[in-house]
Amino acid sequence: MNSLSVHLIPYFIPYLTGLISVALSAIGMTLAWGIYKHKQAKHIPALSEEKFRIMFETSPMGIVKNALDGRYLEANDTLLTMLGYSLAELNKLTYRQLSPQEYEPEESRQLENLRKTHRYGPFEKEYIHKDGHRFAVRLNGVLVNDSDGGQYIWSFIENITQKKATKAIDELIWQQTNFDLLTSLPNRHMFHDRLNQEIKKTHRNNRQLALLFLNLDRFKQINDSLGHGVGDEVLKKVAKRLNHCAREVDTVARLGGDEFAVILGNLEDFNTAESIAERMRDDLSKPFRIGSEIIYISVSIGITCYPENATTSEELLKCADQAVYYAKNQGRNRYSFFNPSMQEVAQKKMKLVNDLHTAIAEQQFYVVYQPIVDLNTGLIGKAEALIRWPHPTLGLISPSEFIPIAEDTGMIIDIGTWVFRQAAQQAKLWRARYNADFQISVNKSPVQLQNQDYHYESWASQLKKMALPGQSIVVEITESMLLDNNNLIDTKLREFREAGIQISLDDFGTGYSSLSYLKKFNIDYLKIDQSFVRNLDAHSDDMALCEAIIVMAHKLGIKVIAEGIETSEQRDLLTAADCDYGQGYLFSKPVRPEEFAKLFARDDNPVTAI
Ligand code: C2E
Ligand code: MG
Ligand code: MG
Repeated sequence: MNSLSVHLIPYFIPYLTGLISVALSAIGMTLAWGIYKHKQAKHIPALSEEKFRIMFETSPMGIVKNALDGRYLEANDTLLTMLGYSLAELNKLTYRQLSPQEYEPEESRQLENLRKTHRYGPFEKEYIHKDGHRFAVRLNGVLVNDSDGGQYIWSFIENITQKKATKAIDELIWQQTNFDLLTSLPNRHMFHDRLNQEIKKTHRNNRQLALLFLNLDRFKQINDSLGHGVGDEVLKKVAKRLNHCAREVDTVARLGGDEFAVILGNLEDFNTAESIAERMRDDLSKPFRIGSEIIYISVSIGITCYPENATTSEELLKCADQAVYYAKNQGRNRYSFFNPSMQEVAQKKMKLVNDLHTAIAEQQFYVVYQPIVDLNTGLIGKAEALIRWPHPTLGLISPSEFIPIAEDTGMIIDIGTWVFRQAAQQAKLWRARYNADFQISVNKSPVQLQNQDYHYESWASQLKKMALPGQSIVVEITESMLLDNNNLIDTKLREFREAGIQISLDDFGTGYSSLSYLKKFNIDYLKIDQSFVRNLDAHSDDMALCEAIIVMAHKLGIKVIAEGIETSEQRDLLTAADCDYGQGYLFSKPVRPEEFAKLFARDDNPVTAI
């Protein structure tokens, strides 16, 4: 290094002071260093070449001297290690050889700067290591007139590869913490932050805020029948449509699964919230094209208003959740504003959940049986087992009310197992005592069928242990089950079939009613839902529907049971339409086993007697 390197000291000092400052502050000497730095600034010119050399050699930053034509003249060890060359090797190279081509335009700009101002940088680029790999650097430099009369470029180079990687990881982590990977919408975490900010802002400005909570209707069916890939695509498109319906200032977030939330801040009144909700509902009900599939979905939306309904983010979300629940119960594909009475419904539900736990533990349930009558002979050949829950304080609670809750909470598995055992024991007794071919139908909820928990013994093996043939039980499932395009359902239905347990399709006509599924799954019985039977008269649409169902079912080798027969006219019409079985209050309400036994015991058949 020649003596003119000392000219560099004014440029070099800021780097070294920076670096040393980091080190010193790390050991708690920032204050002392501050004083030193102050003094140092005045004494820069006094630094000797010797001191400069020490700095050059020990600097954690790469330092290099280039000729104006790009040749490398001097470099410290830090830079040599960074590049993988010895000084002798480096001397044979020029700047261009270490620099990837794509940086040329930027380098020309920097050179231009250097010419004009005698400085360049700082800027970021990459170098090519001796082994060929690239690494990121940040560099700047100065143009120095040396004592030999020549001009040289001194550059200071920091390897920032590690820093960049750390920054990229930090960004990724931030992204993942705050955004939903699938839809790129803000996630639950970010949503809560934004909601809290919006609440504060709204409070300050004396404006209003609405929170929309959206839950797609029957989204699970899309996932189950068309696969998760299609489900994911639908969610992405839903996200786009929602964003499109919202205003620029609104936050549309995905809270998870098929749940979305929208924060509508700075509102003058809630009409805007209502029209946005309406737009979202309408937009989502338009078909989605995913590959070759055309998919229809709908959404239920709950709306809460700040500060009317609640003042904290948690409360707002809770109220919106209750409003969605209400919208779902009202028939889905709609929005509902929260009102305090919904809280009562939610509280009642929560109480029922608790009470159901107790009911299971204390075995508060009992099973009633309703005869299923052969319409040709009038004989009772089967019965449906139906659960009853006499609540200790609320009285008898309808299964239509508590079964959905049991399904939501998974308690249906225990309840269903218990009902099955009761029914099987009853079948055993009645087969032995009254009718060797007697069958009992047991309702099986979709949640039970989808449950993969092998901890529960299969119905087939339980029957075997009780020395009961499979034919003594019929499993009643609902249509929606067959739409689930998953192998588990297929396997479970096959297991039933192999064990001789027959399959009955409950509430036919209320769901998707696809006859092709009936054929595919080998259904034995089809139960026409009572809503068709209720208003039956000879010339009604319902009559035409019942007749059509019966004809088609028979073509597929399926027997038909009509539910909810309450009058002899309904029975006669259905018998005339060739319906195989009937069930309803006309024959008997669901009754306790002792009562049911009396139906068997009557000498003249109870059914023909009606
Ligand atoms: P479901 O399986 O369709 O059962 C038939 C329902 O219709 C029963 O209501 C029965 O009492 C009622 N019903 C029968 N005949 C008539 C009639 O002539 N007129 C009228 N209006 N109704 C009639 P229930 O017992 O209240 O059960 C309601 C639903 O709860 C059942 O519908 C079934 O889906 C579910 N459920 C009942 N017990 C169980 C069970 O043990 N497990 C499961 N998973 N679900 C059950
Ligand atoms: Mg049923
Ligand atoms: Mg039914």
